[in-house]
Amino acid sequence: MNILEFTLKELTGFFRTNFGKGLFHASALYRQIYKTGNPEILSLPEFAASQAFAKKLENRLILAPGQVTDTFREKDLVKFITRLSDGLKIESVLIPMTGRNTLCVSSQAGCRMGCRFCETGRAGLKRNLSISEIIGQVFNARFVLGENIKNIVFMGMGEPFDNFDNVISAVRIMNEQKGFDIALRHITVSTSGLVGGIEALGRLNMKGLRLAVSINAAEDKTRSFLMPVNHAHSLQALKTALKNFPLTRRECFLFEYILIKGLNDSASDAIKLAEYIHPLPVRLNLIPLNPVTGFNYESPCDDDMQRFAEILAGQGIFVIKRWSKGRSVAAGCGQLGLAS
Ligand code: SF4
Repeated sequence: MNILEFTLKELTGFFRTNFGKGLFHASALYRQIYKTGNPEILSLPEFAASQAFAKKLENRLILAPGQVTDTFREKDLVKFITRLSDGLKIESVLIPMTGRNTLCVSSQAGCRMGCRFCETGRAGLKRNLSISEIIGQVFNARFVLGENIKNIVFMGMGEPFDNFDNVISAVRIMNEQKGFDIALRHITVSTSGLVGGIEALGRLNMKGLRLAVSINAAEDKTRSFLMPVNHAHSLQALKTALKNFPLTRRECFLFEYILIKGLNDSASDAIKLAEYIHPLPVRLNLIPLNPVTGFNYESPCDDDMQRFAEILAGQGIFVIKRWSKGRSVAAGCGQLGLAS
């Protein structure tokens, strides 16, 4: 079994059921794996009096995060490719931010949502990632690239709610205090708008875990053109699900809006977006379109983007303009999948 599949509680249960051991040994091994990246069990002091047990464990547990085969750099941003055990490749992006590296992880190999502005969507879904394949991306960023990770965003390849159970299990493992110890408020799960997933996440009531929605249009015709998911999950259904989502008073949703020249960047688009957002607590990220194959639209110029942002700000919306990073290595928003 791959040790990266376990929460500490699950590893303790595994030790108990199979070897009659418990939390003491499980904690020691968990700490060793996630703090040092070293799977060596025999040398751990906690196992000094249990060498036979340690040997059995070494036969039963493997540490298999996937192999990093390529890295692409643009300044201090790094995109890395991981080859999975069946040969499929996935992409992850490490985005340095002052003192807080963010890792953008994939939840699926490919994606079946088919968003037009997204390279991953063009290739279709190959399969869901296992828990350890999601955790493996964090492990490799930490111990192969040597970077501390403080923030996780599920904005890589795939729709996280299409692989709901594995994504949630991976979030719990990332959050383990004796493991990576990444606070839930530093983990963002981003959806194209799968209402069932939003409702299911709401029922779990994981306080602090952040929810992002890729919105991209505030009227159904344009959104359905850009994102086929909107045919089944309309803007109205999406808003209802968000209204019912159990946010605390200080939390907000993150909306991502990819600005596309002549398609969703007019003044009236901005007004409609502001109307749609009210009264939801939302922080809005505006992102200029990145070039992707087969989608013959352009990003607006900086001035047009600024005007769009100002209209929204004038309507009381908290807006952040994101200048695209990673374009030159196809690591920008919507570009993952070109290299794999
Ligand atoms: S934007 Fe996200 S949900 Fe849409 S096709 Fe790309 S990976 Fe899938």
